[in-house]
Amino acid sequence: MSAEDIRGLKTPNGEEAVERCPVCGRLNSPGACDTCEHFYGSAWDGDLIWNDFFETEMGKPWDALVEFIRELSEAKDKGGIEKAKLLAKKLSIPAKWLKLARREVGAFSAMKELVKFQVGLRVVTDGMLSGEGYSLYLEDPGVVENLGKNFTRLVNKLKPRRRGTR
Ligand SMILES: [Zn+2]
Repeated sequence: MSAEDIRGLKTPNGEEAVERCPVCGRLNSPGACDTCEHFYGSAWDGDLIWNDFFETEMGKPWDALVEFIRELSEAKDKGGIEKAKLLAKKLSIPAKWLKLARREVGAFSAMKELVKFQVGLRVVTDGMLSGEGYSLYLEDPGVVENLGKNFTRLVNKLKPRRRGTR
């Protein structure tokens, strides 16, 4: 991003602008919850902040997928892994998913590998609240939710039913 000086500029809602959306150019203020729909949250010291729906739409589906793959690996179920690979391909899940699931990386790290984000201003602070972070922006705001739904589809479709008929 070019080092445009936006100090003193306001968002359309009158908040102090912190950065400009790399997708649509709107002046945003994530800390004041005043952003466009492309804003997905901020990465802060490796964690995701300012996002209330990540856990539901990505965190839980990813954890379930990791657990499913672990079960298949422990059972040495190569056929199951192959089925999962094929179905993932059909669902257009980026191929890297299996490696990430096998390494049991956290949902946020997996998402950063599997989804292409545009990155906003990088912020570094000193002192008591020192840290480093940057905002994450998505050109298509629905892409993470979709990915999570596809993880759920994959697990539901392939996981053996524990109750009822099989
Ligand atoms: Zn935007």
